[in-house]
Amino acid sequence: MQNTFHEKIQRLKQRLPQISWLDSPAQRLAYERDGNVLIAQAPALIALPTSPQDVASVVKACSELDIPFTTRGAGTGLAAGSVPHSPDCLMISTARLNQILSIDAEKLTAHVQAGVVNGVLNEALAPYGVMYAPDPSSQKACTLGGNWAANAGGVHCIGYGVTTDHLHALQVVTPQGELLWTAPNAQAESTLMQAFNALYCGSEGTLGILTEAIVQLTPLPKHVGVALLAFGSVESAMQAVTSLTASGLAPKAVEFMDALTIRCVNSTFKVGLPEDAQGVLLVELAYYYEAELTEAYNALEGLVQGWNVLSFTWETSPQRRDALWKARKGAVASYGQLSPMFYILDSVIPRSALPFVLREIEAISKKVDLPIANVFHAGDGNLHPHLMFHNTDATTIDRVKAGADAIFDLCLSVGGVLSGEHGIGLEKVSHMVDQFDEASLDAQRAVWHALDAKGLANPTKQLPQKGCCGDSGHHHGMPRAKGLSVEGLGHQGLWI
Ligand SMILES: Cc1cc2nc3c(=O)[nH]c(=O)nc-3n(C[C@H](O)[C@H](O)[C@H](O)COP(=O)(O)OP(=O)(O)OC[C@H]3O[C@@H](n4cnc5c(N)ncnc54)[C@H](O)[C@@H]3O)c2cc1C
Repeated sequence: MQNTFHEKIQRLKQRLPQISWLDSPAQRLAYERDGNVLIAQAPALIALPTSPQDVASVVKACSELDIPFTTRGAGTGLAAGSVPHSPDCLMISTARLNQILSIDAEKLTAHVQAGVVNGVLNEALAPYGVMYAPDPSSQKACTLGGNWAANAGGVHCIGYGVTTDHLHALQVVTPQGELLWTAPNAQAESTLMQAFNALYCGSEGTLGILTEAIVQLTPLPKHVGVALLAFGSVESAMQAVTSLTASGLAPKAVEFMDALTIRCVNSTFKVGLPEDAQGVLLVELAYYYEAELTEAYNALEGLVQGWNVLSFTWETSPQRRDALWKARKGAVASYGQLSPMFYILDSVIPRSALPFVLREIEAISKKVDLPIANVFHAGDGNLHPHLMFHNTDATTIDRVKAGADAIFDLCLSVGGVLSGEHGIGLEKVSHMVDQFDEASLDAQRAVWHALDAKGLANPTKQLPQKGCCGDSGHHHGMPRAKGLSVEGLGHQGLWI
């Protein structure tokens, strides 16, 4: 079997001499993980195409030779979406599709390739007074293609919408190797086209490869303020979130950091967040006219009177606002000082359930004896508990998985969903049976099968194979597909 796959790979390379390939053990090792610290699998070979046409040639050959492939942007994903399902898998990297092809600040559109880094696009747009609004905290590294494939969210998505709200048209390489655009004329919007974009946006590479897009731009707001609110308890911070979102004030960001996060962020970014607080909220108000901001600020000040805050400061200087957002977006990196490893979860729950769920997460932290830090998109109810750990011995990893499983179950039990923005990937595929009933999964499988009958595009991700996870007592994130193994640290296997 291995030889057969090896022969296919040799034929693929011979057939496409114009493509750059990486296949030494060291090169393959560099592609065995994304940001998920628990799952690893090196691909057999990595392709580095430089144009959508090259991507199409590689995929067409894969279709003819029956070679499964996974697509990789920057590998910052946290759900092991770009980790191969098996050693017999080709990886197609979009790193060299990195051109900003055009910017039209009047029409508020840009034509961009999938491998462009989100932050690089925004740097290029700033002189035009416009932005590409979806801003994942990983935006300095993650690619637009990865954002489209995961339907990424971000700090400002409560105000501006998530990735799918900022797409006019997507260029797709189908699993058969055909190139198509979801909208032939990106200027003429229609609900049909939006639905077509939404089909691909969030499909995690399982319906083909997204190579280019016409994206929607947004004028940069001219009048912006960020409120820094400190609370003596997590509960009072969460009550403020519910009150704020129900008020109709429409903030552009509502972000929470807990006491552990405050300490790490202060030590790394020196932003002086109040360390006597059990949690802080950053609330951004942004408008195009000064009078609107003044009115909104007055309304916020009125609301704050009813909240149980320790302190409330209002920051309007661009330097201070940038420093606060840099600290918030860099919070995950700052956790390195607490522990060398952390496992990041992602769920959306009803905002009203936030106080209860955060209390329960604290109890889970005690039970599995691991610190859990919370930094998240509070306005969207999009939780990101971070389980901190030092060792990779089997007992510790078991505690991490037990903690993660308990949190997934908790979030689902209050009407939450498995992922807000990181996707399902390999990580959560076995949990899909807990969120969807079989009829719903069958409908999703039918769409997938219609577009990828051979099942070669990022196989075993997102949708569980029929009947594979229905038994009771499934293990955390354990994909049940053939060829996956649970091995010790450093082995070739999906779990470290
Ligand atoms: C510190 C940190 C903070 C983060 N903060 C956020 C956040 O605020 N919001 C958020 O949404 N995410 C966040 N993430 C998660 C991650 O950055 C996003 O999921 C991002 O969209 C992944 O982009 P990428 O280029 O790294 O994609 P990858 O990790 O390479 O791939 C992600 C998925 O998309 C598929 N894929 C990639 N490119 C393509 C393509 N061109 N066509 C088809 N499929 C493709 C892959 O197969 C995989 O399934 C964070 C991650 C880290 C490490």
